Amino acid sequence: MFHSAALKLTTWYLATILLLSVSLSLVIYHFSRNELVSNTSRQVYFFSNQLSPSDFDNFARLRQKQLDQGIGHLKGNLLIFNIMVLVSGGIVSYGLARRTLQPIEDVLESQKRFTGDASHELRTPLAVMQSEIEVALRNNKLSKAQVIELLKSNLEEVAKLKALSESLLRLASEENKSILTERVSLKEVVAEAVSRQKVAAKVKKINLKSDIADISVRGDQQGLAELVNLLLDNAIKYSPVGSQITLSSRKRGKNAYLSVKDQGRGIAAADLPRIFDRFYRADSSRTKQNANGYGLGLAIAKKIVDLHNGAIEVKSGLAKGSIFTIRLPLD
Ligand code: ADP
Repeated sequence: MFHSAALKLTTWYLATILLLSVSLSLVIYHFSRNELVSNTSRQVYFFSNQLSPSDFDNFARLRQKQLDQGIGHLKGNLLIFNIMVLVSGGIVSYGLARRTLQPIEDVLESQKRFTGDASHELRTPLAVMQSEIEVALRNNKLSKAQVIELLKSNLEEVAKLKALSESLLRLASEENKSILTERVSLKEVVAEAVSRQKVAAKVKKINLKSDIADISVRGDQQGLAELVNLLLDNAIKYSPVGSQITLSSRKRGKNAYLSVKDQGRGIAAADLPRIFDRFYRADSSRTKQNANGYGLGLAIAKKIVDLHNGAIEVKSGLAKGSIFTIRLPLD
């Protein structure tokens, strides 16, 4: 599909280049021919009084022949010029067409991968539910306890599907956002995210320490609260019971920095470059057990940061805890 689109685009580019080149050649031909003709006429007129009639005839014939040759050369040169434009223009046009289409091809490729991953993730809980229900239906002596067990298991799978579809919707909505004009207080953003995660932290007896300066950034309040919430959610999810999570901020140059530091299991160096990819989970065997773990959280976080013209980076090592730092332009 892209090959034929590239060829079509090449044809259009080439047609434009050729149109310009042929028009230019016609103008050059027109002026040069006129110049040659008027030069010849001037000379013939000049010598008409100075030569005998027979010499003049010979001279006029010679000049006419030279004029025809000159025009022939002019046509030949312009033809060669246009052939060269056609060949080099074709190569340049194809290169340009590929370059124009490359970003679209990349986006489509990543969308394709995303759709494949999303359908795979959706299929797994559905397949589990289907096989459990089929097995139960084949059992004629199904007890009440077994039915309850089946419903509980199905409910778990439904919860997973719900969490996944919510994440997918969030990702899609972040993708479509574009205008960010509010003045946002980092302190308020962090307070909102902390209040959302209070219960989860309490359940794991995690101490949430927040030391945020009075800094304003320009952006979307809800989006930024979601961003901090996602980082906090991970920090809690991947931290041991009774540990500490610290949120801190600082200003440097034209940027604000916000860090979320945990004492959790950390991330292996090999996984670090991929954790912001959609559906990437550093330790799938462990995280698959978790209803909230679909490897979409950090992809959404990255989208929000990108929308704010910021950056996100992580420092981590296995069993060393992690520090996620967001850079946002100051208001
Ligand atoms: P998930 O839903 O699996 O948490 P994320 O996109 O939020 O997906 O994170 C991707 C992966 O990065 C996780 O599966 C986890 O392995 C790793 N990760 C993210 N945050 C942390 C953290 N604070 N500590 C340890 N590992 C983390």
